[in-house]
This record gives sequence, structure tokens and C-alpha cells, in this order.
Amino acid sequence: MSWPGLRVLVAGGGIGGLCLAQGLRAAGVSVRVFERDTSVAGRNQGYRLHISPEGERALRECLPERVVRLISGTANVRHGAGLSAYDEHLSPRWAPAFEDPRAADPQKIDSVDRVTLRHALLAGIEDVVQFGRTVVGHEVTPGGVTVRLADGATETGDVLVAADGAGSRIRERHPGLASHADLGIRTIFGRIPMTPRVQALVSPELRDRFSYVIGSDGHHLGLMPMVFREPPPVVAGRLWPGLAMAPAGDYYMCVFNLHADRLGTSDDELFRLSGTDLWRLVTDRTAGWHPGVREILGYADPAASFAVALRATDPVVPWDTGPVIPLGDAAHTMPPSGGVGANTALRDASALTTALAGVDRGERDLADAVADYQAAMVGYATDALQLSLRILRWSIPSPDEHPAAHPRR
Ligand SMILES: Cc1cc2nc3c(=O)[nH]c(=O)nc-3n(C[C@H](O)[C@H](O)[C@H](O)COP(=O)(O)OP(=O)(O)OC[C@H]3O[C@@H](n4cnc5c(N)ncnc54)[C@H](O)[C@@H]3O)c2cc1C
Repeated sequence: MSWPGLRVLVAGGGIGGLCLAQGLRAAGVSVRVFERDTSVAGRNQGYRLHISPEGERALRECLPERVVRLISGTANVRHGAGLSAYDEHLSPRWAPAFEDPRAADPQKIDSVDRVTLRHALLAGIEDVVQFGRTVVGHEVTPGGVTVRLADGATETGDVLVAADGAGSRIRERHPGLASHADLGIRTIFGRIPMTPRVQALVSPELRDRFSYVIGSDGHHLGLMPMVFREPPPVVAGRLWPGLAMAPAGDYYMCVFNLHADRLGTSDDELFRLSGTDLWRLVTDRTAGWHPGVREILGYADPAASFAVALRATDPVVPWDTGPVIPLGDAAHTMPPSGGVGANTALRDASALTTALAGVDRGERDLADAVADYQAAMVGYATDALQLSLRILRWSIPSPDEHPAAHPRR
């Protein structure tokens, strides 16, 4: 097959990789995405993502208007900015408001369901995204980059974008880059379907806002409602007949953070626990908390629950300016506390689209364009990382600040 202009290969069809592919497609640049998941709705992705003003701008820069409307139509209805924090008895602690220039714009994309976002990001570029294709190696050649896939095939392009997430294999093979550091926090994520029973049990303070409950024992729980403006299949049916969008009901995303050294169990054991056992552990650690928060934990969907170790790339550093280009978590993993990891990946996608489109048109040298992209990325990704770390320390104080309050189990 003849492939004119710049040939861009992308490892990873997650948030950043798909947004980049949309941007490149719109700019007329040839792109192919290799994604390890066998389908767009892979396991453990059904959680809510906050979209910042910068993230929304990047989406609008990369995507055709019709795709933006799919995302806006399925976004969360909530328009408030900020969060409310309580102690474990639900006494108010503080309620910071975050600046949001979008204010109460009814079309703003405040937060989205990750699987629904991924469905929308795939719309119209299905022909260039290959699912079930894992990148297992790559080699820089005089003519560009060759990637090796798990099925034994090879593919060659001019550049390879490493959009393969926090566990990036491409980053691992890139000499001189440190791995992402363990922050010593383990997080259990889950989704609690917003059934009438759950709505009756949840304390009214927590019902329709982004809330933190910070225990005097240092454990921390976040609860975030995801209420779809309209059911995703209805929006797809109206805006994009024939587009598959999985049905999804409203839910609370629930996040429970613990200090690893107070967990009393190894990571191996934690990561092997079933969804039901994870929430049993949370219920055990929140004995004595207000029933209006504790009682709904038993309604978490076990199939959508998982535990992760929080990691961070600190400092964020540029890679070399060769044809292997980092994007998203592969370049800058950060804890989800700031709600900005995906937004930073979207900013990367927009900035890299501009850089590579200039190269494709013959206006720029590849090494210069990649250097400029990485210099900008290191600046805003460092800010995002520092914000995430500050919020993490603030909401989950170190165990030393609660010396008596962390019984070892
Ligand atoms: C529970 C939770 C809540 C979060 N909340 C927020 C939030 O509110 N706001 C926010 O901005 N961020 C949030 N984040 C962070 C956000 O999800 C990530 O920062 C974002 O997904 C990064 O995008 P990415 O494209 O770099 O990586 P990913 O979205 O992780 O995509 C990487 C893709 O690469 C694929 N892949 C991996 N290896 C290979 C391989 N070898 N070959 C081919 N494909 C491969 C993976 O299957 C995956 O699809 C949250 C994270 C979690 C876990």
C-alpha cells in the first residue's frame, strides 16, 4: 500500500492515543493505532474522568464537531466547581472552589465516563485503530521506526508515538529514563450504581457533589457522581446512527486511599483480591464512619472494582528528539488526585498534532518539531504533576501526621 507524507504509528489507543489519531486524521496525516485491548470497552475502565478547561480545549482542537457533540451529549450534568470535604462523621471540614472559566456553560464537558469517551474518540477513525494488537518491541532504523507486534507482524512508519500508558513498554526500552516512582498509596476504585436504594442510603450532603471524607485514621474516600446528560446509545442514535455506544447507567465513582505501609497485606495479595473482598476491606477500615457513607459501599459493583499503586514521574523529563515520541502517562504518570492525567494526555495530543502536521506539510524538521513539543509538554505536565501531588498530600496526609490513628492489621 502506498502511504504518502509522514507515516505515524501510535502504540496505545487510550485517551491520548485516540485523541491524537483524531487530530492527525483531521489534519490529513496518515496514522495507525495499535491497541492491546481487544475492544474499546476493556476491563476496569468504567470510571469517571474530570475534564478540565485545558482538556476540553484540547478535545475541541483535535476532534470534528460531531465527535465533540457526542462527548458533550453524554457528559456529566454537574456544573459546580470545587468539592466538599468532611470528617468521618460527615461534619464539614472545608469546601474549596476551583476556578473554572467555563462557569455554568450548559454545554461544557465537566466530566465524562471513560468508556463512553473512548467510544466517542473512536467515532469516524475505526479504520485506523487496530484492537488486539500489542506492541512488543521497536527498532529505530535509518528509514524511521519498525514496531514488532505480539502476533509476529512488523509495521514501519516515520515516527512511533508511545501512547501506551503508565506501564509503557516503550518507555522501559528507552535508555536513561527512570521508571515511575511508587508514592506509597494504594487506591481501591469502584463504581456504585445510583439505584433508588443507594440514593436513599447515601447522606444528602454527598448525593450530588464531588465529596471527600477524610477519616481521623488517615484513610480517605472520594465520592463523585456521574449522571449522564442523556443515555449514550440515545445520543449516538441521534448524532451518529450506526455508532455503537455501550449503555451505561448513572453511578458514583468511589475511591478509597490507604497508605501501603499500613495496609497489612502485600501488593500481590491486594491486587489478587476480588471486587467483593476489596470492598470488604474498605468496609472493615471504615468501621465507625457515618452510616450515610459507609452503607453504600456494599453496593459497589464488584466487576468494576480494582486496586492500583499510585505512581508519579517526578521529574517529568523530555525524551530524546528521535522518531520515538512520548505522549500521556507514558511520559508523565501522575496520581489521579488532581484529576488532570487524562487532561494532560489530551493537551499532548493537541500539541503533537500541530507539531506533526507541520512536519507532514514539509514546513518543519521532525527533530525541531519534537523538541518544541516536548519542551512545552514538560512545562505543563510538571505543573499538573505538582498539583496532583499537592492534592494527594493534602487529602491523604502521611501516616506520621496521624501517629496514633493507623492501627496495623
Ligand atoms: C480511577 C482513575 C480515575 C482517574 N481520574 C482522572 C480524572 O478525573 N481526570 C484526569 O484527567 N485523569 C484521571 N485519571 C488518569 C487518566 O486515566 C490517565 O492519565 C489517562 O488515561 C492517560 O491517558 P493515556 O492515553 O496516556 O493512557 P491510557 O488511557 O492508559 O491508554 C494507554 C493505552 O495503551 C494500551 N497499551 C498499553 N500497552 C500497550 C502495548 N504494548 N501495545 C498496544 N497497546 C498498549 C492500553 O491498553 C491503553 O488502552 C484517572 C485514572 C484512574 C485510574
